[in-house]
Amino acid sequence: MILVSACLLGQNVKYNGGNNACELLQVYEEQGHFVPICPEGFAALPIPRPPMEIHQGTGEDLLAGRVRALDRTGRDMTESLRLGAQKALALAQKYHAKTAILKESSPSCGVHRIYDGSFAGRKIPGSGAAAALLREHGLTLYSEKELTPALLAKLVAEDKDSMKNE
Ligand code: SF4
Repeated sequence: MILVSACLLGQNVKYNGGNNACELLQVYEEQGHFVPICPEGFAALPIPRPPMEIHQGTGEDLLAGRVRALDRTGRDMTESLRLGAQKALALAQKYHAKTAILKESSPSCGVHRIYDGSFAGRKIPGSGAAAALLREHGLTLYSEKELTPALLAKLVAEDKDSMKNE
């Protein structure tokens, strides 16, 4: 199975109550290869909620206890991001997922780039907390920004093969 950020599948779980529906994913949605995950939802955060950013660090730094995440009101969200990441990993392990397609730039799901904690729209290289934990446990991660029809077809075909062999 392939883990996919729930907001990319059109679920209204974003901080502002919206979604990030990705047309390419819709083509395969009914075929049963995707497990939707929303780490911030897994941490029981409400919708809507204030936006949050990891403060001057990455998801890896957050998991290692070196930096914190704050929401726009200044509330410390570090433990929520950590809990959401752990629950996403538990689901990956339950479904023997080897691949995840995650929403770029999110403090939980960002794969290659995240916001820098200034709430000024600036991004830095790095992953969100859940993405970092999934990668640390061997999953291969893609963001929606690097998806192409050919890549997605390949990932789905690989998942079909792995289901046959289970
Ligand atoms: Fe989307 Fe991930 Fe944010 Fe949930 S935590 S809204 S799945 S980017």
